[in-house]
Amino acid sequence: MAGRIVVKAGDITREEVDAIVNAANESLLGGGGVDGAIHRAAGPGLLQECRRLGGCPTGEARTTAGYALPARYVIHTVGPVWRGGGAGEAELLARCYQRSLEEAEAHGVRTMAFPAISTGAYGYPLAEAAEIAVRTVARHLANGSPIEEVRLVCFSETARRIFAEALARHCGER
Ligand code: ADP
Repeated sequence: MAGRIVVKAGDITREEVDAIVNAANESLLGGGGVDGAIHRAAGPGLLQECRRLGGCPTGEARTTAGYALPARYVIHTVGPVWRGGGAGEAELLARCYQRSLEEAEAHGVRTMAFPAISTGAYGYPLAEAAEIAVRTVARHLANGSPIEEVRLVCFSETARRIFAEALARHCGER
């Protein structure tokens, strides 16, 4: 399982994988951060398809085509806004990863990339978010998933280091 999770720094819109995950908001109508970057790189067809979806609740995921992206699909998930940790944020964030993995499998995806969901405008602390990302993905892959590779794509070197440490810790515990 360990080799199937890769932590890297980079721009997720450039990833050559079957699906990239978007950290969207409940409207699915675009926003800043990684959401804005994905819509810019995909082109206007993505927003048109998102409009037809009618939004997505926090902790859920919806799949669209990837349009001009190298990725065939975009899986839009809505992370929780950080409110201090006592408002079910951890469960909701884990659910984002879990539901995105399920959506990917339903579309025959073998390789996919996640951004660090909720850690930008939504304010989730990076170390806690990294633990949840690694644990949820690792558990899912260990359960007979046909997904071959999951890339955790961080936008800064600091985030990359924190995610790499979480992955190393997880592997050490197993
Ligand atoms: P959220 O609202 O879920 O916090 P953001 O887009 O504000 O979403 O941030 C989520 C994470 O995505 C942050 O860690 C941010 O640095 C990162 N990010 C922003 N642009 C990109 C990109 N092009 N590729 C990968 N990660 C990105």
